[in-house]
Amino acid sequence: MKWREVIGPTSGAKEKAAETLRGMFGAVVDGLSENGFHGSDSPQSAEREIHFFFKDFDMTRMIPPTVKQQEKDIVFILGGPGSGKGTQCAKLSEEFKLAHLSTGDLLRAEVAKGTEEGKAAAGFMKEGKLVPLELVIRLLGQAIESTDKRAVLVDGFPRSVEQVIKFESMVRPCKVAVFFECSEQVMLKRIMKRASETPPAQRRPDDNPEVASKRFRTFKIESEPAIALLKAAGRLVTVSSEADVSSVHKQLRQLFLI
Ligand code: AMP
Repeated sequence: MKWREVIGPTSGAKEKAAETLRGMFGAVVDGLSENGFHGSDSPQSAEREIHFFFKDFDMTRMIPPTVKQQEKDIVFILGGPGSGKGTQCAKLSEEFKLAHLSTGDLLRAEVAKGTEEGKAAAGFMKEGKLVPLELVIRLLGQAIESTDKRAVLVDGFPRSVEQVIKFESMVRPCKVAVFFECSEQVMLKRIMKRASETPPAQRRPDDNPEVASKRFRTFKIESEPAIALLKAAGRLVTVSSEADVSSVHKQLRQLFLI
């Protein structure tokens, strides 16, 4: 499928092509424009267009060049907070000998190190907001480079359209993206259960109802369009993750047996 068909026309998308990304998510500015969703037609034009805004920006510095050469298979694991991504990735990575890299865990490790970037990241995490892409992608690139496994489960990434486009143009398109579909009610219950089972000193500062509702909001606004993009590109598999751990695992493992 061509990128233009996925993203939709630059004007009148809501009437002419409601099922495209611009049709669904494009902003209407003063009733005139529906081109709030920017999209480049190729990695080359994305790189060129980025330089309109950031003259000195060199995307290639963010991911070690060797990551591209290593040709590891990338599987994105997507879903809202508390949808069970971490639990299921732990089981899948053990059974199928895959690397499990969670961007949330990578960021928490950076916060624990107390670096300047870690301190800045903690501020975004406490607010349930996305941490700036440059740090997330750098940590993820280094982690992919260091693993010796042939395939990687990337848990909790990409969380925005920008993350999909930058990562895939710098590394390679994912083999598949698995979306864990789960209601907010179930996700909140799981978050609260995890908080209640963790000693206060180790409890995540974002596992409480107030920050959880902000994380749900960020998921809706920033991550759902990324999921829609991967679906439109024909690379998304949706699995309901509302059931218990072993039923969800049974369903998921079928995907990895193929
Ligand atoms: P998680 O452990 O996946 O629930 O993530 C915890 C927090 O880390 C999120 O609420 C974000 O603040 C941050 N985070 C995790 N992954 C990403 C990502 N891919 N992009 C930006 N921020 C992220």
